[in-house]
Amino acid sequence: MPVPNPSEHPADASAQPVALPFPEGLRFGDTTVYPLRCGDLRVSRNHAEASPEWARNQRLLRTALDWRWTAPVPVWSWLIAHPEGDWLVDAGQAFPFPSPAMRRRDPLGAALNRWLVRQQDSGTEPPSVDHLLRRLDRDPHAPIRVLLTHLHIDHVDGLQHLPQAEVAVHGACLRRSFGAAIRHLGPAFRPKALEAGASPFKAFEKAIPISARGDLWMLPTPGHTPGHCSVLLRTAEADLFFAGDLSFNLDQLQRGRWPGIADNRQTNAQSMRRVRRHARLFPTVYLPTHDPDAARRLARLQHLQAHHWEGQAVPDPDSP
Ligand SMILES: [Zn+2]
Repeated sequence: MPVPNPSEHPADASAQPVALPFPEGLRFGDTTVYPLRCGDLRVSRNHAEASPEWARNQRLLRTALDWRWTAPVPVWSWLIAHPEGDWLVDAGQAFPFPSPAMRRRDPLGAALNRWLVRQQDSGTEPPSVDHLLRRLDRDPHAPIRVLLTHLHIDHVDGLQHLPQAEVAVHGACLRRSFGAAIRHLGPAFRPKALEAGASPFKAFEKAIPISARGDLWMLPTPGHTPGHCSVLLRTAEADLFFAGDLSFNLDQLQRGRWPGIADNRQTNAQSMRRVRRHARLFPTVYLPTHDPDAARRLARLQHLQAHHWEGQAVPDPDSP
């Protein structure tokens, strides 16, 4: 570390497919993180960012009816090659979307998701997670542990290509969205429900230990969905914070804004304040799923800096 940015070395660019921007992985001591770019998608501008004043129904309506589309944004999944074995953070989107099986099982949900999320053309080889794992010498048909930040389709669809996946997700996700996930993924989707307990982190009241040696955690960061979690990997260099859809990108965390699909703006704002507080206590690299700069920021170990948001409080919708 630090690992060079491939875009700064054009001669090497052809050898490094965009879906695997760092095919050798990014090493942190005895653990290696591989950013997997499971294709790109486009959403409406109101989907990408809502006004903090919009209440829930207003956010959803404005998201669905906005015809202005963003530039393509990535769908990151992260493979953590850990001494205790591999963990995959989210399974990304699969191609084509919706899958023929989902169209059969849930035509209405397939149409709605198709409207909200425009998948980008995947080219000759679909960059779904099974293809990317194969490139990293992993057998997608072998057992692999998957930690889901939440159950939205662009985070879970890749599971249809990981038949032996041992999936874990916060129980609140299942209590609210299990039916929809079953319609998306079929009855074979049987994740383990995790519940949060005491947290060793000052900024977070609750946490879920994942690795035996205590360096991998799931942290409840509700708001986008009720059970939304982030995944935290502690390394000697920094805390790597895989933030799912808590915000679409780093800029939103710094400005205190959030996406249009946010179940509860109060809890989303509170979760963002917790991340900011954690970043004041520990060097933290913030890695949302749809941030085009996430992999580069990880390679450069760019920490969250408190001065980026001084004077820019996260809005508290409960405040007068
Ligand atoms: Zn989401």
